[in-house]
Amino acid sequence: MNPVEGASKAEGRAQARAPSPGAAQRPTNVLIVGVGGQGVIMVSKVLALVCQRHGFEVKQSEVHGMAKRGGAVFSHVRFGERVWSPTIPQGEADVLVALEWAEGLRWLPHLNAATGIFVCDTKRIVPPFACRNRGFGAALAYSSETPSEVLAHVAEGYALDATRLATDLGNERAANTVLLGALSCALDFADRDWEAAIAQSVPPETVEINLRAFRQGRQWIERSRGGEPPVVEAAEPIAPRPRALDYAVELQIERAWCKSCDICVKLCPERCLALDADLIALLARPEACTGCRLCEWLCPDFAIRVHTRAKEARA
Ligand code: SF4
Ligand code: SF4
Repeated sequence: MNPVEGASKAEGRAQARAPSPGAAQRPTNVLIVGVGGQGVIMVSKVLALVCQRHGFEVKQSEVHGMAKRGGAVFSHVRFGERVWSPTIPQGEADVLVALEWAEGLRWLPHLNAATGIFVCDTKRIVPPFACRNRGFGAALAYSSETPSEVLAHVAEGYALDATRLATDLGNERAANTVLLGALSCALDFADRDWEAAIAQSVPPETVEINLRAFRQGRQWIERSRGGEPPVVEAAEPIAPRPRALDYAVELQIERAWCKSCDICVKLCPERCLALDADLIALLARPEACTGCRLCEWLCPDFAIRVHTRAKEARA
């Protein structure tokens, strides 16, 4: 197992916050970050709902203007007896929840250095600017820090492969709810309150999977705090592929998840993708596809999977 992909640091654990209305001396600050399509806003809304139901004043602000294009999305949630400003000053986030690895690193300066709790998915969504050299096998300009290196610099931190956990449950899009479960361990609200808020916030047909994902996230943190070694397999590291095309490539495109944003079509270095008559991504030139995986990494809706397998040896 790659030691970087499921790691935690919980010594000197920060105190869980938000006890009862009236007791909070200052607002509790939770910053949730990720990229478009990952469900940052859903996490933020569920948290705000739970806080409101406990009688706290809640202020929530969010930026998601570039969400559909795979851009950064973040949401500040502040709650307490009285909250005057909707934004969290740098260095004052009590909890930073990141749905994407590099976004988590980017926002670390906002975390309270002495007591802040960092919860981060090791999921990597490579932004277009990291792929400016789109030649086959080219290295990507993406964070090379390992979770263990990063967690050494925070008071309490957890790096989990939430996407893999959600995939194992049957729906990788529930990764945000896995992280919600992890977040719930940092705050003093009861499970039933979180679960009621989730049930109210997601489509009825996805309530069950989301509740399972929430419990999975909680269990991961509880096991980690209990000293168990990380239980999640490593996410695939981003590395250049070998140059020789000694493998066959297959693209799996989930039509129901494609939002026709055109990102994959525009950024495929071999120009082998197109949108079909229904504006859904299509591998129009399979013979040109090298399996470079840029389309998989860049799709904000996880609609593309690239599968490679070794070619059979010729007789
Ligand atoms: S498959 Fe392509 S067009 Fe569809 S959502 Fe993903 S990046 Fe956009
Ligand atoms: S279709 Fe995807 S895997 Fe194939 S060359 Fe284009 S970006 Fe790379």
